[in-house]
Amino acid sequence: MPKLNSTNSKLPSDFIRNIIAEDIKANKNDSKVVTRFPPEPNGYLHIGHAKSICLNFGIAAENNGICNLRFDDTNPGKEDVEYVESIKSDIKWFGFDWCDRLYYTSDYFEQLYQFAVKLIKKGKAYVCNLSPEETRKYRGTLTEPGRKSPYRNRSVEENLDLFERMRTGEFEDGFCVLRAKIDMSSPNLIMRDPTLYRIRRVYHHRTGDKWCIYPMYDFSHCLSDSMEGITHSICTLEFENNRPLYDWLLDELEVKCHPQQIEFARLNLSYTVLSKRKLVELVDEGHVNGWDDPRMPTVSGLRRRGYTPLSIRNFCNCIGVAKRDSMVDMALLEYNVREDLNKRAPRVMAVLRPLKVIIDNYPEDFVEELDALNNPEDPGMGTRKVPFSRVLFIEQEDFREDPPNKFYRLAPGREVRLRYAYFVTCVEVVKDKKTGGVIELHCTYDPKTKGGDSPDGRKVKATLHWVSAAHSIEAEVRLYDHLFTAANPGDKKEAEDFKDCLNPNSLETLTSCRVEPSLAGAAQESRCQFERLGYFCVDSVDSSESKLVFNRTVTLRDTWAKIQKARK
Ligand code: ATP
Ligand code: MG
Repeated sequence: MPKLNSTNSKLPSDFIRNIIAEDIKANKNDSKVVTRFPPEPNGYLHIGHAKSICLNFGIAAENNGICNLRFDDTNPGKEDVEYVESIKSDIKWFGFDWCDRLYYTSDYFEQLYQFAVKLIKKGKAYVCNLSPEETRKYRGTLTEPGRKSPYRNRSVEENLDLFERMRTGEFEDGFCVLRAKIDMSSPNLIMRDPTLYRIRRVYHHRTGDKWCIYPMYDFSHCLSDSMEGITHSICTLEFENNRPLYDWLLDELEVKCHPQQIEFARLNLSYTVLSKRKLVELVDEGHVNGWDDPRMPTVSGLRRRGYTPLSIRNFCNCIGVAKRDSMVDMALLEYNVREDLNKRAPRVMAVLRPLKVIIDNYPEDFVEELDALNNPEDPGMGTRKVPFSRVLFIEQEDFREDPPNKFYRLAPGREVRLRYAYFVTCVEVVKDKKTGGVIELHCTYDPKTKGGDSPDGRKVKATLHWVSAAHSIEAEVRLYDHLFTAANPGDKKEAEDFKDCLNPNSLETLTSCRVEPSLAGAAQESRCQFERLGYFCVDSVDSSESKLVFNRTVTLRDTWAKIQKARK
């Protein structure tokens, strides 16, 4: 496993890592650590999965262990190779490696079938013909014990015969199921003779039409873990009640390897949803432009938005691993990407909503190449030349004809600094005769302030970014806001349907932005900081040599620091 360079110098510690450290100390499993990440290929990975990936691959790496990738593909119909490929590419993008240990639960179908036969032979499983409705009624409730199915006492021979006929396709879908024979009065409903196999004539993306019976998650998961020699089977809290079944099956089947299931709280992130079912809905109903829409909390969406793998791994490390569900603030994720990009993203100048500025006393057809710093955080990143000429663009919002209090940027008669260039003073405002809107400004510059320093110690209160009109390149820029207006869109108290909280202004597309010429031909996925505007990433789908498209990854405002300060 490659060593991952992390900006978090301290390795995380949590209750799972503590359990594993104890196990190693006690020489349990010969002190080996084997984990797995078991996605179901029925959607793209989201940031919640990233937490599980960082945990499973991270713990393996920290303990000289290994982590398998296993596709839990027991639900054909909803699953697809497209998802398999995207999941593999997302995990690789994080920098994790399963080496040659790529597994599919479907590869174990024959062994799983044999395990079921073994269970029947032990008198611990039976074929049940109750309808789903009847099964529900027989199950009982939390306060009432369940009732035994009338099929519960079928002989081993009859069960073996029926189960084989289930496999060979003699029965209709839903005609019967294989159930474990455990305890219909268990306080844990999951232990009331759970279903292990059902008949479903659905084409499987790997096994085709070979099988018409498919194992349930509870049956296949523990056995797949065991066959792979997993030592610690880390999963999310909703499986806590399934743990007794996990253990019961492995005990009854007397397997050599009995992994320990450990549950942790899933990640919930504010202003978004982390459930594949809901994300599928957003994609299928066209509320977003696909799984990799930069507003999506999917790994592919975050990547297209400009997030770095390191920033997500750091985020996963700093949120910790707990046993109780909680909501993590989106601002913390944004803080992590800012921290990372601040160090590595080169600074450039771009104007999102251009306002023309003519420097009246600057010679026509004259161009100066001015020196600009690529990253004040890292002098090693060097400098570049930025062309300055008589006609420039500045940001519309950097000028006010009637500046309110505390507006220190450009206004009639006022002097400001143009970054890396000169001090300029606004001398005239030209307006559209019909609309009255400002269409261009006339300024004068002070040649003695070249580089942005005044020789006489004269102070200005604002420094503006700018581009040279003739040299700048047109670009499209996409600005994003939260996908939802509610902090917890999944909460029924917020809205009946989570989609009622969709933010209608989550995407703003600006088509006539101007960027400095150094960005010509910028490669897809390359990242930079537009000075004063945020971190941006060249879109990996729509940007090309002839048309630059940028996504804003995050603004420069550190809302996380603000939240922390307010809490103190
Ligand atoms: P969803 O509820 O979004 O459909 P899932 O649990 O069905 O997710 P799987 O493909 O089965 O998705 O998940 C693979 C692994 O990722 C599982 O071990 C699961 O527990 C873990 N996982 C899924 N969602 C989260 C989350 N929000 N936080 C942490 N781990 C998660
Ligand atoms: Mg699942």
